[in-house]
Amino acid sequence: MSAARAGATTATAALAALDREAAGAAMHEWIARAFPICRSITGDGVRRTLALAREVAPLEVREVPSGTRALDWTVPPEWNVREAWIAGPDGRRVVDLADHTLHLVSYSVPVRARMGRAELDAHLHSLPEQPDLIPYRTSYYREAWGFCLPHRVRAALPEGEYEVVIDSTLDPAGSLTYGELYLPPTAGAGAAEGAAGEVLISCHVCHPSLANDNLSGLAVTLWLARTLAGVERRLGWRFVWIPGTIGAIVWLAGNRERAGRIAHGLVAANLGDPGRFHYKKSRRGDAVIDRAVAHLLAAPRGNDARVEDAGEAPVIEEFVPYGYDERQYCSPGFDLPVGSLTRTPWGRYPEYHTSADDLALVRPEALAGSLAVYLEVAALLEANRRWRNLDPYGEPQLGRRGLYASTGGGGEGRERQLALLWVLNLADGEHDLLAIAERSGVPFARVEEAARALAAAGLLAEVDEP
Ligand code: ZN
Repeated sequence: MSAARAGATTATAALAALDREAAGAAMHEWIARAFPICRSITGDGVRRTLALAREVAPLEVREVPSGTRALDWTVPPEWNVREAWIAGPDGRRVVDLADHTLHLVSYSVPVRARMGRAELDAHLHSLPEQPDLIPYRTSYYREAWGFCLPHRVRAALPEGEYEVVIDSTLDPAGSLTYGELYLPPTAGAGAAEGAAGEVLISCHVCHPSLANDNLSGLAVTLWLARTLAGVERRLGWRFVWIPGTIGAIVWLAGNRERAGRIAHGLVAANLGDPGRFHYKKSRRGDAVIDRAVAHLLAAPRGNDARVEDAGEAPVIEEFVPYGYDERQYCSPGFDLPVGSLTRTPWGRYPEYHTSADDLALVRPEALAGSLAVYLEVAALLEANRRWRNLDPYGEPQLGRRGLYASTGGGGEGRERQLALLWVLNLADGEHDLLAIAERSGVPFARVEEAARALAAAGLLAEVDEP
């Protein structure tokens, strides 16, 4: 972070400098390395994944003992598995965890047994509608075991005696593992330390070999963290990579004070498929993050962060108390301004929670486009200050200050001029730059550029955060 203190690089500049092709390829490569790991809500799979994550961003790995009470929940025993398979009547293995991590129901209790076809079938899960795919199933808070397999394979299993082996452990002396990284505001970046609040970026780490639902979110948030670590920051940026539901509950239980400082937040997931962007608003519905993402996704794009979405418009959706960990952050006691920014939401693509959510579904260019949008949101939040017009009686003479120099009658020059006038008119200490962008219809990036030019000319002063 020493580079950030020394340099004047901002999130806006980092966005402009983003090499999308290189970033997309690097994120996809990282996902390919993390893909084979058998993850769950606890256990070595999460630790190995966070070790890979530390190659990208300097996160801290935290362990919370099994049995710890967290709000209305209890951290479960730590689950690990060495092997799990079913051998058929002829002794050949018909399903083997070694072939695909989805084959075993996550949190399956240990089993060594022989049983007939009918008894075994009660423990099998398959998708008749998608007969070639392996489904994803879990049994976190209920003692059970099971295997997942393509329906075609299941339907062809002969009668006879089967051998079932699940060499798993549920350790009450184990722990739940999560990753956290806090990037504090940089010195000299403007507002007093922490006065502008914190941004929470949350991503689940608990899914096994599923590329879009989980690993794409991990990759994009890791690269976002790495980028923001190298720029000037007015806001604090807190990243948590946690097991779904219980991880968010554990974090909230241990950070009640800190949660009150969260001014903006996003839950990241499903960011590698080629679908268009979807933003689900926070419970509040009118938080700055809700307005910021809506503005960026809807505005005509005047900058090069434009995301190609096959011509489809992004979708803004209202809050519902379902989905990912926004459910916890937006529970009424916390009511944090946390929305969820994804491409195709969970459950709305046919590969969701199946073996078809693989490395081919996730595309480097989609990952890069998602990183660009997250960076765009970061740049907006960082630059969204309040200013006051120091000369509000009549229009200040802009030509004398060289601020009309770039207006040559073209469309872009006209938009620049309009942005200057809007900022001068609405910079009353009440409207932040986002509010000026919303009211004027001028893209935020253009409004911010105008504010910087006016401040440099001595016409605006920054208003302290409330
Ligand atoms: Zn999922």
